[in-house]
Amino acid sequence: MKIVQVDTYPLVYPLRQPYGDANGYKRYRSLYLFRITTQSGYQGWGEVADWLPALEAGFQQRLIPYLVGKQASQRLMLVHAIRQWHPRSAAGVSMALTEIAAQAAVLPVTSLWGGRWRSQVPVYASFQSYSPNRDWMKRSARAVERALSEGYRLLKVKVGGRPLAEDWAHIDLLQNQIQGRASLAIDANASYDLSTAKKWVRMLERWGNWLWFEEPLSAQRMVDYPRLRQYLSIPLSGGENLQQPDQVWSWFREGALDIWNPDPNHLGGIDTYLYTVQTARSLGWRLSPHTYDGMLSRYYALMAQTVLPPWSKMAGEDCEPVEWDVMENPFTALLPIRPQQGKVTLPEGVGLGVELDMELIQSLQWDGSRYW
Ligand code: MG
Repeated sequence: MKIVQVDTYPLVYPLRQPYGDANGYKRYRSLYLFRITTQSGYQGWGEVADWLPALEAGFQQRLIPYLVGKQASQRLMLVHAIRQWHPRSAAGVSMALTEIAAQAAVLPVTSLWGGRWRSQVPVYASFQSYSPNRDWMKRSARAVERALSEGYRLLKVKVGGRPLAEDWAHIDLLQNQIQGRASLAIDANASYDLSTAKKWVRMLERWGNWLWFEEPLSAQRMVDYPRLRQYLSIPLSGGENLQQPDQVWSWFREGALDIWNPDPNHLGGIDTYLYTVQTARSLGWRLSPHTYDGMLSRYYALMAQTVLPPWSKMAGEDCEPVEWDVMENPFTALLPIRPQQGKVTLPEGVGLGVELDMELIQSLQWDGSRYW
């Protein structure tokens, strides 16, 4: 199980049309993939979302020299050490070494984790609603209609990047279009203070098909979350950027959330992710993973949802949805996994049970000459 090689694949893709959220527009998408190989020939994939030039330098100069020669079976200690340097890289390494452990055991990753409660996981269509065009609302409405026609019944759109009146006009436009065909979450990306977030209560009362109100406030204002929650008649969600289990528990103690949005990239390792969401579930939280920043981390989040016990006894409501990016994003096609009627079926093969598309990886490879 000695690690003998780490191959890196920095990928970048300039978008044809910028899109964005309350934090601004995205003009490109990027992804850093790497593959760890052991002496006995096992291979595992990892993924990191961060600035490519710094990642490439960090991997070549520090992470690869550290990993080569180590035992892949010492996953927890290796990930713990790398976490001190760069938590997102540690998360990627934990994915690769988990896949290698599953291959060595000749088991699916989910069997290594104790086995599945379910093989299908619901996903929600996640939009980046804003664009620089004057007709951004119409574009958003067209994108929502496309997702509805593809069978999605759970949707999430962005708010918080425009004045309230403009955001409300957008939401009214979408709600009139949806007409009960889907449930809708709104995500403010930490845009408001408490008094502004409370103004949303009036808008929320106009419609009955809300999934949740996501991250209305900054994570630095954790004490305001339970205050806002008292005013809301719909679930309050957040916590995608929490990076340590102790942060998660303090949010839990404060009664800050109804639904936690854990991110497999942000907890410093897939093992920490798994035991934290399992404990959160046993404490009664609902868990809808935030998986905007990668396709492999999303796949791990999907696998983790299959091994979580049900959150509810209500028929068809036992598993919360995982975020599915429906905007222009070529990295989705790297794995042969597609939602059908708003659900993803997880294959049962050894390891991940799927192969990455190497041809597509080659075609998206960043050549280092330019960065958007
Ligand atoms: Mg969010």
